[in-house]
This record gives sequence, C-alpha cells and structure tokens, in this order.
Amino acid sequence: MDAVVTPPPAAVEVIALTKRYAAGTPAAVDQIDLRIASGGYCCLLGPSGCGKSTTLRMIAGHESVSSGDILLDNRNITDLPAAARGTAMMFQSFALFPHLSALDNVAFSLKMKGVGKAERQKRAGDLLERVAMGHLAERKPGELSGGQQQRVALARALITEPRVLLLDEPLSALDPFLRIQMRAELRRWQKELGLTFIHVTHSQEEAMALADTMVVMNHGLIEQVGSPHQVYNHPSSEFVARFMGGHNVLDTPAGAIAVRNDHMQIAPDTGGAGVPAHVTDVEYQGTYVLLGLALDGVAKERQTVSVLLGEAAFLARPYASGDAVRLSWAEADARVLRPGAQRPADRAAPPPVARDDTAAIAAFVA
Ligand code: ADP
Ligand code: MG
Repeated sequence: MDAVVTPPPAAVEVIALTKRYAAGTPAAVDQIDLRIASGGYCCLLGPSGCGKSTTLRMIAGHESVSSGDILLDNRNITDLPAAARGTAMMFQSFALFPHLSALDNVAFSLKMKGVGKAERQKRAGDLLERVAMGHLAERKPGELSGGQQQRVALARALITEPRVLLLDEPLSALDPFLRIQMRAELRRWQKELGLTFIHVTHSQEEAMALADTMVVMNHGLIEQVGSPHQVYNHPSSEFVARFMGGHNVLDTPAGAIAVRNDHMQIAPDTGGAGVPAHVTDVEYQGTYVLLGLALDGVAKERQTVSVLLGEAAFLARPYASGDAVRLSWAEADARVLRPGAQRPADRAAPPPVARDDTAAIAAFVA
C-alpha cells in the first residue's frame, strides 16, 4: 500500500473558454473564465443543457476547444491529448468493463500503456487495497454493489496518477439512499487523497453537500462562483436564487430582491404593515412547516412565495389555506439581485468585424 504515491494536486484555470458545436449556432460554453484552487472540491452546478459537461470534457481533453485556454498549474494543456494532461475522468455509470474482474478493470489503462502484467497487477492491487476493495479484487462488476463499483471506478481513475479528478454526474444513476452515502464517500476520498476534484451535477443539494467552491452555470455562462454558504446566502441573480431554492424573489421599487423563506416574517392580516398575501398550501415537513402563499395584486407568474416556519412557531400560531396574512422581512435579509445570464439568442449580437475589403475589390477590378 505504501507503493501508492499520490501526486500533488493541481489548480485548473480556464480563460475565455468557448465551445461552439457547429458554426452559426450559439456557443454551448461562452467565453468562461474560472480558477479552481488546487486540492479543493469544486462543483459545476446548473440546469440540464447549461454547458457543464461540455466544460468538463474540454478540461479532460475529450472535447476540442473552439477558443480559449485551459491551464493546469499554469501549464497550457489546451491542445494536449487526454492521457497527457494529468486529469482523469469518472463517468456517470462508472463505465466498468463487465467481463473483467475489478483488478483487471483497474489495471486496464496500464495494460494499454504496455506495463508488464506483474507490475500492473501489483499497482492495481495496491489501489484496490487503498479503496478498501482488495478482498473483492477478483469479482466482476455485476457481482459488486453500486457503492463497491464506485470504488473500483475511483481506483481505475486514480491508477493514471491524475492531479485532477473529473466527475460527470457520478451519483445520478444511484438510488437516493445510496446517492447520499456515496457522496459522503466521495467527499472523504477527496480529503484523504488531497486531489483537486471537479464534479458536475444538476443537484443543488449535492453541490452544497460536497463543494468547497460552487460554480453556478446557466446558458453557457457562469452566473456565480463561491462557497455554498456564500452562494446560498448571497445569490447574485434571480436565476441563482430560484435555482438554489429556499428563496423568495420579490419585486420592490428598488428592483428585485431575494429573501430566504426561513427569514420571512408572517402575521395575520390586521391591515398593518407588510406585503399582503394569502396562504395557498400548508405542508408539514417534520422540523419545519412550509407555507405556500400567493402575493395579492401581483402578476400570476411572480406571485408565488413560501415561508418556512419552525414546527413550534407554527403550532403556537397555526395558519390554514385561505388565511389572509402580511409578510415582511428585515432589511439586512434582503439581497438585491442583478440580471442573470441571457439566453444566447437574446444576447446582443457581436459588433460586425471591420473587414479590409481592399484585396477583394482589387481582385474584382483587375
Ligand atoms: P449539461 O452537461 O449542462 O447538461 P452540455 O454541456 O451537455 O450541458 O450541453 C450544453 C449544450 O450543448 C446543450 O445545448 C447541448 O444540446 C449541446 N451539446 C452537447 N453536446 C453536444 C454535441 N456533441 N453536439 C452538439 N451539441 C451538443
Ligand atoms: Mg451533462
């Protein structure tokens, strides 16, 4: 086991990174700039189609770059083949070879590199020991649980001695219970190995549980970068506030603001101060009670809000569907929102490139 050397983690930087799958179509990833600290757990988070996997595959070298650069510890790797980058990828379904034992799955890439049998089996065995799978080295993937397969997939990625591990929705094929167990395990491995992890997910809950740094993407752009605490407590745009959940977006004379639904104050409507609303749903959640409300006199698409009350507070003063209430919040809990990323089609067209037509005109005249 001592033979397993963990290479130093690396920082990853992308500069004006762009992917356009076909000429004349909107960019799937549009000039993003991002620096991911060495040895941290970074989650790329956003809705389906926002460009997370494309970004990850460009970093991995599985997808060509339309323009921009990718640096690994300040070394430009943009045009290097995947195997020469110092990155390794772990896929959604683990993509293990079903007919090979765990040991041979892990040793596979060494075999491809022409490493001798004894050497590669030793190294694969050491890594399987490291992920507590040494005793199951001869099993085939079909004879292993989902969690055990994840460990084999991890060992297989680690055998190339990557400095950055890239994970594309690694937990999404698991059932919810196993997913929570496995995410704790991934976090533990990242800490123990000290490698840089870049993990793509569409689940804000998963990103919050795992990440040191969250990168929220939408429409091929980065909306916000920060720790889960920063992003949750200071969503920068309406998109982030709504995507993270647990926030109300409220239109005020000063513009749109976000207020956490557990920071809202609610009182029966006695004509006093506050924003008038009606209770539409009461959902008991155990520790909390979630009240669904509709703001009075507000356009339908912007009238839905929620208030999260502690169980004791709710029992002390219960509300029922149809109740008229007044909502308020402390100034300090209001976050002013800026406009978020626009869809590529709605972005201003780039200024026309000033062309030098002299040559063409000269050719025409001649
Ligand atoms: P995410 O992983 O966030 O769901 P993707 O990076 O897979 O998003 O996709 C971003 C956009 O690029 C989407 O509009 C998707 O349809 C498009 N796209 C992804 N892969 C390809 C491809 N191989 N060819 C053409 N378009 C693609
Ligand atoms: Mg994807």
